[in-house]
Amino acid sequence: MQIKPILFYNTLSKETETFKSLKEGEVRLYSCGPTVYDRGHIGNMRSYILSDIIRRTFEYNGYEVHQVINITDVGHLTGDNEGDADTGEDRMEKASVSLGESAQDIAKKYTTLFFTDIRRLNIDTEKIEFPRATEYINEQIAMVQTLQDIGYAYKVSDGVYYDTSMFKNYGKLGGINVDELEAGARVKVRKEKRNATDFALWKFSSPDQHRQQEWESPWGVGFPGWHIECSAMSRALLGRQIDIHTGGIDHIPVHHNNEIAQSEVVNKKKFVNYWLHNAFINVEGRRMGKSIGNLINLDQVIDRGFSPLSYRYWLLTAHYRTPANFTWDALEGSHAALKKLHRYFVDELNVTLGTVDSKYKEQFHAFINSDLDTPKAIALVWELMKDDSVSKKDKRATLLDFDTVLGLGLNESDESMVKLLHGGGQKLSVSDIPTNVKAIMDEREQAREQKDFRKADALREQLHVHGYEIEDTAVGPRLSKRKE
Ligand code: AMP
Ligand code: ZN
Repeated sequence: MQIKPILFYNTLSKETETFKSLKEGEVRLYSCGPTVYDRGHIGNMRSYILSDIIRRTFEYNGYEVHQVINITDVGHLTGDNEGDADTGEDRMEKASVSLGESAQDIAKKYTTLFFTDIRRLNIDTEKIEFPRATEYINEQIAMVQTLQDIGYAYKVSDGVYYDTSMFKNYGKLGGINVDELEAGARVKVRKEKRNATDFALWKFSSPDQHRQQEWESPWGVGFPGWHIECSAMSRALLGRQIDIHTGGIDHIPVHHNNEIAQSEVVNKKKFVNYWLHNAFINVEGRRMGKSIGNLINLDQVIDRGFSPLSYRYWLLTAHYRTPANFTWDALEGSHAALKKLHRYFVDELNVTLGTVDSKYKEQFHAFINSDLDTPKAIALVWELMKDDSVSKKDKRATLLDFDTVLGLGLNESDESMVKLLHGGGQKLSVSDIPTNVKAIMDEREQAREQKDFRKADALREQLHVHGYEIEDTAVGPRLSKRKE
């Protein structure tokens, strides 16, 4: 097969570049994974679908892929994402207090749910390595030690910090204006920090607060900062230099610039050749957030009668760099489309396998190699379905070939994923929930958010009168028809 160029938009150069791997025929791919203090939502899933499409595209092009997604089970502070790495509580410890379970149990529970979610989206977890931050403490300490030895890290009263003024071009990813970052952070600058953008590499346990997760280190008992885990784990599993690093755009200014600053100094190499970032998913026109109360996870998708694959399909109809607005109506449309595709495949293309149509394959290949243009690839699927000049058996072969990249379950042996598409085993579809019942349900959720449990109970009674049961599960409310 003739090698075709693969083009990616690289956040580092802000240009579309032709991909060239570090090692011929192999790709090293690292993606920032979940912090397992809570259930992942459908926005997070876009990040994992991005790395999945990257892996499948490379496999389609004949590459071997070494893929890592880290699991953050310590050290991610509530202030970290705002570039305020020395403030806030550890998310794991905070969740432990509010849920009354150990940090370890919480990590276990949400890691399992994370695997469940991504498998439902047809991501093959067997092909990916999932290192936990708590399993790489020694590697993280060693990296911090090196940074200190060469003068890039300094110790203050609450931890060890990276001196960002030492790193030439700090903030180069995404063209971050460090002066602006500094100005924005000034009010919160700790007196002991040399620069506002300096960030914690190692934090000391506070003497007046018991921590469940802490380790001995050359500087004192404590825990690693959030950014160092990605530098240490990608180095341990993929080497000192990698081809591709992915994540959501929110990670560009702070987390990924900090990873670069750490890794390039310790590894003495350019850390990553291609940085790919996905734009955000909003819900009904609003940013998704716990405080807004509009987080949606895959259980809710299933409870409303949709297959997770319909969500995958919906995601692929938008380019990963385009912000997308999720609505239940849009998902309903994707669900109907995917169901139609499956029906067509099962009913109309129930023939022996022919050969892949070279003209269509050529186009498909060009689309996915062009910065993962899945919307065009999906449009091509529909064009092929309607094209009577291609025989049914060749259509079957061609669609199956496309699906090795799209992952829409056409050849799926896991029936549970596809079952929902065919209408089997489902409780309530969104169109089955009367508007007034849905309104009560939403009002009750709001009451629960505001901890007005008396009102929430009264609304539960109302639902009962309408003939519905509501069950509050760890992953949100679940509505079903009341059994008489
Ligand atoms: P977190 O657990 O918050 O670190 O997020 C895990 C991944 O999901 C990261 O790559 C984030 O950038 C990404 N992410 C978070 N929220 C969204 C969203 N609403 N849409 C798309 N990606 C998101
Ligand atoms: Zn990371």
